[in-house]
Amino acid sequence: MCYYLTRRVEFEAAHYYRIPELSDEENYDLFGPMSNPNGHGHNYVLMVTVKGAATASDGMLINIKDLDGIIRKRVVAEYDHKSINLQHPAFIQDLYLQPTSENIAIQIWQSLIPHLQNAKLHLVHLYEESALSVEYYGEGQMVYLTKMYEFSASHRLHSIALTDEENKEIFGKCNNPYGHGHNYVLEVTVKGEVNPKTGMVADIDLLDQMIEKQVFSRFDHRHLNLDTVEFEKVNPTSENFVRVLWEIVEPHLKPVALHRLRLQETPKSYFDYYGN
Ligand SMILES: [Zn+2]
Ligand SMILES: [Zn+2]
Repeated sequence: MCYYLTRRVEFEAAHYYRIPELSDEENYDLFGPMSNPNGHGHNYVLMVTVKGAATASDGMLINIKDLDGIIRKRVVAEYDHKSINLQHPAFIQDLYLQPTSENIAIQIWQSLIPHLQNAKLHLVHLYEESALSVEYYGEGQMVYLTKMYEFSASHRLHSIALTDEENKEIFGKCNNPYGHGHNYVLEVTVKGEVNPKTGMVADIDLLDQMIEKQVFSRFDHRHLNLDTVEFEKVNPTSENFVRVLWEIVEPHLKPVALHRLRLQETPKSYFDYYGN
């Protein structure tokens, strides 16, 4: 029997991205404001997931007190209220290792793994900000990166395959002919090997620009049924919407691989789609 336990901790740290032999200007071209050599900082949120069987004697996968002790000593003490570039041994040693969330997550994995026995490390999930996080499962250089976006749209649930009566019956108030609306939250998860030069799996600026151009320009502040060709004949349920979003977004991400889209219509539910 396998159990998964997730523990959340926070630390505050400064960092910057720089390739030593490049000029200030070249570093700015590559990393933007993140290249400021004086550093900037984040309130990092770290979710550590361990897995394994419960021990017969105490019925626990691991004593949370012990897990906290390991995380405190091996992670928090190394990062909290410090400059990662100037004070973390791994990043001091290798000036070409950029302290991106991707590389920090891999470092955290490597710092924790020797100290966990019965409970095996399953996932290091690191948030740099609430809308941006990376997940690392110990698979070489493979990292999953998730960015969250919000947009507003109205819609009416109505299927042309059904009669007006059937639509009213099935969709209830969501079938209101005048429409209603939501703040949609779209989480885009991409996966890939960390680029050894930039320390990233994807360029966030390019991702933002693409979502702006492909998603916001189509759907933000629109009525899905009336203003978009995608839903002229398709019922704008979350299921159909997340699939349409996948079809729009996926080709524009290449060579970065889209792993998952998560669409939240209201805070009460979300839909995950992994493509066909
Ligand atoms: Zn930063
Ligand atoms: Zn709705």
